[in-house]
Amino acid sequence: METTEPAVSDETMGWITRLIEIDTTSRGSNLPLIDVVAAEVRRSGVEPVLVPNTDGSKANLVATFPASDGSVHGGIILSGHTDVVPVDGQEWSSEPFAPEVRDGRLYGRGACDMKAFVGAVVARIPEIAAQPLREPLHLAFSYDEEIGCLGAEDLVKDMVGRGLRPRACIVGEPTSMRVIRGHKSINLVRLDFRGVAAHSSRTPYGVNAIEYASAFARFVRGIADEFREQGPHDDAFDVPFTTCTVNLIEGGIAVNTIPAECSLQFEFRTIGGVDSRSLLGRFQSELDRIEAQMKAENPAAGIDVTVVAAAPGLDTGKDADVVRLAAEWGGEPSPEKVAYGTEAGLFDQGGIPTVVCGPGDIAQAHSPDEFVELAQIAKCEEFLDSVIAHVRG
Ligand SMILES: [Zn+2]
Repeated sequence: METTEPAVSDETMGWITRLIEIDTTSRGSNLPLIDVVAAEVRRSGVEPVLVPNTDGSKANLVATFPASDGSVHGGIILSGHTDVVPVDGQEWSSEPFAPEVRDGRLYGRGACDMKAFVGAVVARIPEIAAQPLREPLHLAFSYDEEIGCLGAEDLVKDMVGRGLRPRACIVGEPTSMRVIRGHKSINLVRLDFRGVAAHSSRTPYGVNAIEYASAFARFVRGIADEFREQGPHDDAFDVPFTTCTVNLIEGGIAVNTIPAECSLQFEFRTIGGVDSRSLLGRFQSELDRIEAQMKAENPAAGIDVTVVAAAPGLDTGKDADVVRLAAEWGGEPSPEKVAYGTEAGLFDQGGIPTVVCGPGDIAQAHSPDEFVELAQIAKCEEFLDSVIAHVRG
């Protein structure tokens, strides 16, 4: 029988393996991985820019390979996040941080989301540096994508602040190498309702935090129904409208005590055409109204609002240059928009035209026995080689 094992280069396999072996679960530091990649960048003669988080425990890395005239402006970004989701409580058939090839697939935490892409890019650093470039190529690797695209915000700020103005960005999240132009925004908000405790027989003396939180939960459902019924709709999405939902609620201490505390977390995901900031404003006005009612009962009561995550959506036009380029490089054109958020929306917001295109299927991301098909890695290698050929001109 003819063997159909897809050919993935040793360098690429070596780097993907090496990166998976470094546990970069979001709750820990990503610096061990950043150090290894930074060393590889320096070995090619380029000094990477590290953008640390506030306590210095994590960092983004930007490496710019300049054009032959020394220019660092314009060019193409290849971007990925370095963190992975936890394996806690998951049943794995093999050790998650000891990657293993079985049946044409590479297994390991982050294999598909998204160390296959990042590894394939890092494997090409010597190649990128070997010959003069017609326009710059930027590598941008972030931290904390999995907990709300937190790191990429500063990463994009850094690139915009330095006036790099790249003309296109590829975010290599798993799309099975399809060129994805759109995804929803993701916004996660935590509310702490502070009521006043009292014996449950003495209702006029307490402020019931659970009741006020429930009133807000009903309001969220009302807004959700409104979007579902009235739109706007975009049939490129599986769920073709903006969604809002309350997913966590916790409150009360005893059946005979009016609860002084109730915390509630809700999210909303907007499609293009719905402004997430003005929607947040709508939720805030309702919270102001509810808080006023609470304070009328007792001025000590109130609501604390924390925006836990706010990652903008992506809605790149189908005629955009980056869409044409990604298809030229071997990405598969697709009319579909995806449900999951990525850092692409942040690049887009920073004025950098962006699409999502990377190896692997999102269905395998975050799950036990996460894997990426070797055939997908091989496709990604061809894609990256075309990008390099393009910037060489
Ligand atoms: Zn991801």
